[in-house]
This record gives sequence, structure tokens and C-alpha cells, in this order.
Amino acid sequence: MSKIAADPSHPRYQSLLMRHRLEEAEKKGMLAGSALIAHGRGEAFDYLLGEQTIPSALIATQQALALLSSANHPVISLNGNVVALAGKEVLHLAHQLKCPVEINIFYRTPERMEALLGHLNEIKLREELDVEILGAEPDARIPGLEGPRANCSKRGIFDSDVILVPLEDGDRCEALVAMGKTVLVIDLNPLSRTARMASVTIVDELSRVITNMNKMLLSDKVAQPGDNYQNAQCIQEALTHIATFLSSEG
Ligand code: ATP
Repeated sequence: MSKIAADPSHPRYQSLLMRHRLEEAEKKGMLAGSALIAHGRGEAFDYLLGEQTIPSALIATQQALALLSSANHPVISLNGNVVALAGKEVLHLAHQLKCPVEINIFYRTPERMEALLGHLNEIKLREELDVEILGAEPDARIPGLEGPRANCSKRGIFDSDVILVPLEDGDRCEALVAMGKTVLVIDLNPLSRTARMASVTIVDELSRVITNMNKMLLSDKVAQPGDNYQNAQCIQEALTHIATFLSSEG
């Protein structure tokens, strides 16, 4: 890592650290060609949010965690960027929730799958975590999607009732909602199709969200899912936050 990226007092430390993780993942063959473009779009929105967890995102995070904790078959779906940016943190979350993770990638090749599984298994071993990692042998399909991206595991995504899908694309989010699942997404872009389709939309940066969830679980701060939770209102508050930030800068 460069000297600047290794210095936690640097104002762009977190951002540089995330870029470094993506560079390393790219070298290991874990990422799709469009991975850095997707990350760049996320960074732009994070800048507009002030690179912080805004209050409405914290409310959505609490609701998502409550739903995961009370689910019958929770699962966390992982793509290349998620594994690269927060693989360790996500495995700790799955360990605490006692739920499986499933690698479910848009551009599926045997080499990418091997790289992602290898990376996750290495973390699992090192951190001594008890987590089932699914996705190597898909045996079901998500209805309404074409091609290999519809593939999934019956025991994981297919049979899940509550699914956390960080950095999902709109099509697949829509297909999962159509299957009757409670779909929890993490997306810095409050305007994306994914953000608008999901049951719970956390407009916040992935690694911050997973860290917040792990802290809440460790401190026993998980409530029951709130009946009055309004997803549209959380999205609106993110947009209002961005608009306020833009007008205060202008
Ligand atoms: P959609 O199909 O939902 O309209 P899209 O085409 O913008 O979305 P992709 O490019 O597939 O979606 O996914 C990237 C999305 O992930 C973007 O909305 C981006 O803001 C978000 N994103 C990227 N990096 C992060 C991150 N670290 N944390 C949270 N969100 C992120």
C-alpha cells in the first residue's frame, strides 16, 4: 500500500483503503470488468453524503438487522466488490447471525468463483469463523432472470425469507422481491432501481454498514423489526441530506 493510504490520519484514508482493497482483489482475479466503475459511482454519492452514516441510514440499518435476526432462513448474498471491500466484516456478521453467505455474481466464470471462494475460505480459517459459504454448486434458478446470473443455491438464496444483498443490480433485486422475499440492500445511490425496489434500503457505504451491524450485535442492540418503518421516507431523507449538502456548498 502507498505511504498515504497506510496513514490513518490522512483525510482520505478510508477511501484510499477501499481502493487498495479493490486493487488487490483485481490482481487476484476476483472482480468483474465493471467493478471499478460501480465503485466510482458509489464514491461520488458517498462524497455527497459527507462520507458518513446519516441518521436515516442508521434507522434502515437497525431495521435490516432486526429483520435478519428474526428471519427463519436469512442469507447474505455476496458479489466481487462486497468480498473485496468487506469480506472479513461480512463473514463476522454471518457468524454472529448464524446464517450462510452465498456468492452470487453477475459475470460468473470458474476462475472468478475459485478466487472468491479461496479468499473467503482463507479469512474464515484465519478468523476461526463458523460460516457456510454457498454458491460453488448452484442447484436452483431465480425466476424471471436470463442466463447464468439466475443461478443460485436452493439451500441459500432460493429458500431464504430475508436476504441481504449489498450492491445489487436493479433487475435481480426486482426478481428477488417478486419471489416474495424481504430484500435488504446497501446502496449509496438513493436513486438507483435497486434502492427503489428493495424492502429496506440502506443508503450508506458498505463497510460502514457492516461495521455498524457487527457493533449492534456485539452490544446486544438489536430490536424487533419496527411496524412503522417507512422505506420511502428513509430514501427521501437521504435525498434531502444530499440537496442540503449541495446548497450549503453553493
Ligand atoms: P441499478 O440497476 O440498481 O439502477 P446500477 O446500474 O447503478 O444500479 P451497479 O452499477 O450494478 O448498479 O451497482 C453499483 C451500485 O452500487 C451503485 O448504485 C453504487 O452507488 C453502489 N455502490 C458502489 N460501491 C458501494 C459501496 N462501497 N457501498 C455502497 N454502495 C456502493
